[in-house]
Amino acid sequence: MKLCKFMVFKMIYLTKEHLEQIEKHGEKTYPFECGGMLIGHFAADGVKTVVELLPMENAMDDSEKHNRVLITPRDVLRAERYARESKLDVIGYYHSHPNHPAHPSKFDLDHALPVWSYIIVSVERGKAVNVRSWEMENDRSKFNEEVYEITGEQKVAQRI
Ligand SMILES: [Zn+2]
Repeated sequence: MKLCKFMVFKMIYLTKEHLEQIEKHGEKTYPFECGGMLIGHFAADGVKTVVELLPMENAMDDSEKHNRVLITPRDVLRAERYARESKLDVIGYYHSHPNHPAHPSKFDLDHALPVWSYIIVSVERGKAVNVRSWEMENDRSKFNEEVYEITGEQKVAQRI
């Protein structure tokens, strides 16, 4: 498909296995939040491809764990080092919203980094019900929803 050059078309590719891994992580940690890094690469047109996921420990106190995940700067450094070793980049972050919609919170906006994809899985009663992906506006005012496309391993491999 040829895209109009005036069209802002943010998009991320991931495999069915990645999607299931995110859903399962959210179900496993329910009623607490889970989180992890998206490792992959950026293309010049803004399209991102997830190659692998790096699940993270929730650094919040138990009392806070149900509604927010704190990823420390050390976690980010570790993820960046890990990605670099595989000649990849950290391209985003996924986390779960237990009993809340897959929509970014104010906390998410306050802690977001530009360009990264934020994949959110909504988990209701221990079951993943919805997954959406978001990218922050450059002026930090809001998140815009991003299209995600499920692709086979084959297609991901070709894009590397
Ligand atoms: Zn959130």
